[in-house]
Amino acid sequence: GDDGVPGRVRVAVRLRPRNAEELVADADFADCVELQPELKRLKIRKNNWDSDTYEFDEVLTEFASQKRVYEVVAKPVVESVLEGYNGTVMAYGQTGTGKTFTVGHLGGDDTSARGIMVRAMEDILADVSLDTDSLSVSYLQLYMETIQDLLDPGNDNITIVEDSKTGDVSLPGATIVEIRDQQSFVELLRLGDAHRIAANTKLNAESSRSHAILMVHVKRSVGGGEDAFSSEVDNSSHLVKPVKPLVRKSKLVLIDLAGSERVHKSGSEGHMLEEAKSINLSLSALGKCINALAENSAHVPVRDSKLTRLLKDSFGGEMPLIFLQAMKVENMLKIKEEFDYKSLSRKL
Ligand code: ADP
Ligand code: MG
Repeated sequence: GDDGVPGRVRVAVRLRPRNAEELVADADFADCVELQPELKRLKIRKNNWDSDTYEFDEVLTEFASQKRVYEVVAKPVVESVLEGYNGTVMAYGQTGTGKTFTVGHLGGDDTSARGIMVRAMEDILADVSLDTDSLSVSYLQLYMETIQDLLDPGNDNITIVEDSKTGDVSLPGATIVEIRDQQSFVELLRLGDAHRIAANTKLNAESSRSHAILMVHVKRSVGGGEDAFSSEVDNSSHLVKPVKPLVRKSKLVLIDLAGSERVHKSGSEGHMLEEAKSINLSLSALGKCINALAENSAHVPVRDSKLTRLLKDSFGGEMPLIFLQAMKVENMLKIKEEFDYKSLSRKL
């Protein structure tokens, strides 16, 4: 984090503006959730006389632009990835609170609407030199503990492998596409998003039930080129040792998590029941890992789900989480969820 504590999860809460439906509805909506940005606090009104107050690392009001959200939350992570560390940004919240808007919006005609994925790549492309460095991406969906390749919809042969020496996590089988310019990256995201919708329609699943995961692999040559070469002259034998330039690898992972609303197992049957169990599984596994990190615990329980297994080599790096909120009464009344407030904030 900013304070130099490795692996700390910084949590920013972002409130989206009310939509048309919410604007015309009951005026009480306005009071359900109140932000106090200067105190970095969020207040939830439980009823007329009682409210709970929570403190976050960052508080972004409904007036915060996409640019500001990127700069406050994601830019420090992108910078650390460019320096060789792994970093992750996740969007967490109930369906409809603005996760996809915040992370995955492509902007279209309105460039001010561009989300974190697009802005991150823009900054990365501006910093690397593609003569010596390389960038590549994978774009995946995790649904019911199955990893699907959003860049190659037929491909369901992706596994999670951890290098026993380095601890690096890789996904053999996943499509990796080299990125050389912003436009082709945005086209790739567009293609992946279309595949995501198609795959979910086929499975009769809502996209809110799956996690979308973008991995950006950055390989930079450090102190390489001619300098490194000449410094390897072996004076005793007058031979020049051919050495590979040093390559520094890092990874940026951007995740649009599945909706955090609890899918209740009671009343669900068959596919719905399986889906409910697996979503609860991966989000609660993530919650346990985040709690462990917050408590500086030596043991981060990554084994419990695919989501946490594939994040294993990210848990030591910068890892902010954007906690999305909408001003909807129905949502507000449901938020007595364990992972939501208890572990993401400091209750006051
Ligand atoms: P989620 O992915 O969490 O289900 P979405 O990102 O799809 O939610 O957002 C729900 C709706 O709200 C979308 O129509 C989206 O464009 C809109 N929206 C979300 N956040 C904002 C925001 N900060 N400003 C304007 N519109 C927003
Ligand atoms: Mg979404």
